[in-house]
Formats: sequence, structure tokens, C-alpha cells
Amino acid sequence: MNKKIAVIKGDGIGPEIVTEAMKVLDRVAEIYGHTFEYDQLLMGGASIDVNGIPLTDETIERCKAADAVLMGSIGGDTNTSPWYKLPPERRPEAGLLKIRKSLGLFANLRPSVLYPQLAGACPLKEEISSRGFDMLIMRELTGGLYFGARKTEEIDGVMTAIDTLSYNENEIRRIAIKAFDVAMKRRKKVSSVDKANVLDSSRLWRKIINEVAKDYPEVTLEHVLVDNAAMQLVKDPAQFDVMVTENMFGDILSDEASMITGSIGMLASASMNETKFGLYEPSGGSAPDIAGQNKANPIATILSAAMMLRFSFDMSKEADAIENAINNVLDNGIRTGDIMSEGMTKVSCSGMGDAIAAAIK
Ligand code: NAD
Repeated sequence: MNKKIAVIKGDGIGPEIVTEAMKVLDRVAEIYGHTFEYDQLLMGGASIDVNGIPLTDETIERCKAADAVLMGSIGGDTNTSPWYKLPPERRPEAGLLKIRKSLGLFANLRPSVLYPQLAGACPLKEEISSRGFDMLIMRELTGGLYFGARKTEEIDGVMTAIDTLSYNENEIRRIAIKAFDVAMKRRKKVSSVDKANVLDSSRLWRKIINEVAKDYPEVTLEHVLVDNAAMQLVKDPAQFDVMVTENMFGDILSDEASMITGSIGMLASASMNETKFGLYEPSGGSAPDIAGQNKANPIATILSAAMMLRFSFDMSKEADAIENAINNVLDNGIRTGDIMSEGMTKVSCSGMGDAIAAAIK
């Protein structure tokens, strides 16, 4: 297969970690007989330095012309970088919001995996962490409370703030379809999270999820109230496969799910639109404290590239090959500084990329 990938290396550690992901993709292409063509684009601080703005229309068009986007991270040190003296709409992160909107990315996928080799980093009790877990949180990204009408006004002499939580059935249906499609490529279980005992938006959410579920008879569906979901995540995370939820619940639960893995450098993410198109990036930021030192952990970005193969290119075998290579490298005790522990072998960012590329079968 021939695929065109828009590559945004970004700022800070972005260029280092994306270079390693490209190294691994090139190895996959070589072994499995594919061609990956890269269109390298600027965004965030790197674009401000050249174009004066964090995201140009040309970059958006070139992303749209690609089959998927692979991105590093955006932004600099918010205390010292001159980018943060600019007005908010010209700062690096404004590019992130704009690209998601321009590409219609409404579904955010965040896998949360506890690798048995890194179980020591998990803040949960050993009886829970020893079972490991491998779940994916799918968060609705463009609706709900964060996008509803809001105002603050004085009513009868009392300051009052109002936010609106609204979802229509189409917004719910498209994320539900995405969640069931992804579950079909995993362990075929969907846990839909809502607050249907209180909220109308949640009752509509549950109704539409149930309707969509009828088209996926192989998938087991459960409904979980959000407060219970927050508890279950720390009590028994292994019970979850795909968790689908609205914007604000997903914002909170996906951070909780990331925290229990204990390793920010291992967390991949994807944002997708209604087609197979997606933007793939690590969950962490640009880590200015270690940028340019060949110290960053590239695994989150390499795992994001594996998600790109699985979800945008339907290359499951190749995605498995990357994930297995990462497992082998961890089994062999190879670690970057952030996941280092006693008795292991410490490598650089490029050393980790080399080891994973060499382990691809
Ligand atoms: P951060 O995630 O960049 O860093 C937090 C800590 O985690 C740091 O100690 C860093 O060294 C470490 N870390 C992060 N990724 C790592 C990796 N791959 N390997 C090893 N260690 C890693 O968060 P921050 O310091 O709050 O933010 C820095 C900049 O990143 C800010 O400008 C922020 O706005 C931006 N940011 C961008 C994104 C994005 O591009 N999607 C997301 C979050 C933050």
C-alpha cells in the first residue's frame, strides 16, 4: 500500500520523538512492502517563527490531502518562551484547537495500557497492577459543556454563571459508531459512561448508544454511571476495553486512566473524524525541560503511529508488529530515563527508536 502521511514534528521534544516514529514506520514499510510518503509541515511555535502564526491555511490543506497526520507536540516553556508574549490566538496551542476543528476531529481515542514490565510505576496496589490493563477511552471532542452557550450575569443582585450541556442525536450516533468500530478491532466490549440518572443529555446518549449497539451483535455493551466509572478505574481497570463518553466526563476520566499507568512517555492518542482519517500524537507535551538532549521517550509517538496503521490504514498486522516490538524491547530491559529502574539498560531517545525498529518482525 502507498500512504501519504502529513508529519508535524512540532516543538520541544517533538522533532526527536517523531523522527524515531518515522524510523519505525520506515522499517515496517520495508518489511511489509508498503510506501509511506511524508509531507513535513510546521505548526505551533515552529510555525510562529517562520510564518508569524501557529497554523497556516496551507498546512491545513496539506493535512487534508494526506491519509493521516502524525504529530509530535506543540508549545514551549510557558514562563520563558517569547511565543507566550503573543496574544492568545497567536500562541502555539491555538494551532492545536484550530487543526482539530478544521479537520472535523470529533473523537479522541486514548489508550491506557499498563505494561507488566512497568508495573512498578503504577500508583495502584500490587494486587490490582499485577493483573495489568489495556483499555481505550473514546471521548467526544467537539460538543457538550465545553462548546455550549455560556454567560455570567447578575440576576436579582446575585452573580450567576451558566454553562449549557447539549448533545444532539447525530453527535452521539457518530461517536457511538466509532466506539463500536474500534471495539470490533479489540476485545469487543463497550462501556458507555453517562449520568443518565440525572441528566437529559445522558438519557439521550444512552438511548442512541443502545440503538447503535443493535448493529454490533458481537460487542458486549454496558452502561456505567460516571461516578461509578471513576471508582471502577482505580478498583479494577482490567474490566474495561473501550470506554466511550461525552466531552467533559472523557476529559476527566482519560486523565485518571493515564495517571494509573504512571508513565507519560508511554501514552499514545488519536483524534478522528467520520472517515478513517485521524491525527495521531503522544498525550504528553513538548517537555521543554529535556528538549534537544536526546533523552525523551519516543514510545508514545511510536504507539500513536501504530494506532495510525490500525485505525486509518487498516494495517492490523503491521500495528501488532510495532506493539510486539515494543514489548520485546521492554522485556529486554531497555529503558529511557523516564521509565528507568534498577538493573535495566538506559538508552537515549534515538537508542530506543533503533531498538524498536530492529525488533520489528
Ligand atoms: P509535558 O507533558 O511537556 O511535560 C511534563 C513532564 O513530563 C516533564 O517533566 C517532561 O520532561 C515529562 N515528559 C513529557 N513527555 C515525555 C517524554 N516523551 N519522555 C520523557 N519525559 C516526558 O507538560 P508541560 O511541561 O506542562 O507542558 C510543556 C509544553 O507542552 C507547554 O507549552 C504545553 O502547553 C505543551 N503541551 C502540548 C500538548 C500537545 O502538543 N498536544 C499537550 C500538553 C502540553
